[in-house]
Amino acid sequence: MIGAGRFAPSPSGDLHLGNLRTALLAWLFARTTGRAFALRVEDLDRVRPGAAERQLADLAALGLDWDGPVTWQSHRVDRHHAAIDRLTEAGLTYECYCTRREIQQSATAPHGPMGAYPGACRDLTDAERAVRRAEGRPAALRLRSGINEFEIADELHGRYRGLVDDFVLRRGDGTPAYNLAVVVDDAEQGIDQVVRGDDLLPSTPRQAYLAALLGFSAPRYVHVPLVLNHAGKRLAKRDGAVTLADRLALGETPGQIVALLADSLGYRAHSPAELLEVFRPESLPGQPWTFEPLGVVQYSGNP
Ligand code: GLU
Repeated sequence: MIGAGRFAPSPSGDLHLGNLRTALLAWLFARTTGRAFALRVEDLDRVRPGAAERQLADLAALGLDWDGPVTWQSHRVDRHHAAIDRLTEAGLTYECYCTRREIQQSATAPHGPMGAYPGACRDLTDAERAVRRAEGRPAALRLRSGINEFEIADELHGRYRGLVDDFVLRRGDGTPAYNLAVVVDDAEQGIDQVVRGDDLLPSTPRQAYLAALLGFSAPRYVHVPLVLNHAGKRLAKRDGAVTLADRLALGETPGQIVALLADSLGYRAHSPAELLEVFRPESLPGQPWTFEPLGVVQYSGNP
């Protein structure tokens, strides 16, 4: 079986140039390595009506294509719950009644790593659990992690060690959590190459460890640099004309936008197909690309 890469946007709004560049890279990495390319809409959370359809239309307008039907994560929740059940049967989960506020306020567990869930609910007795249930507190389900850190290999970052705490598998409202859903979906969809923004690198040790617990092999990871604004912050909608619709409204063509993205990667090309001819994964710039959107109203201190 050939493997597959994927792009997995959350339909929380329109894709901006940073997201489009990551999508282009995911497509290039898959296609240059002979893999299929899948598209998965991660619609368990933060769904804005119509956003998924616009995201797919934007990707197609730039000339990206994908294999097979688009997967909607919300259609796979039975698979997510089945994986959670397997972990529970193996004694690898526990209910957590902590509110976000309680977690923020409690100091990190003694000797525990920074940012880790402090473990308040890890060793509750049945009686203590019954009290919390009787209070009507919604329970999230956490992983009973056997480790504090896990090492992954990333094609751009090399070996990367990061935190694995008792992270949430199922939220208090019953929805599968992102870290669980992404692992189950990638593995069950035959995804063996994950190209995504490097803001997700810190979550990757958790995901790779979870994959191992579920008996899945971890995909190859490529965490690509984000696009930054002139202030060095991650590009966002408020930075001005940053979506495809914004750029088209300024009179640019999809070909010019692909050319802009290709230029940021060090290539001259006006379509993904043209770029595929010349793209070499090992030459990917390791530095973030800074984008200055024209059409943004800039305040100048001078009269
Ligand atoms: N849906 C996630 C996002 O848009 C990306 C998940 C992933 O690529 O693993 O941030």
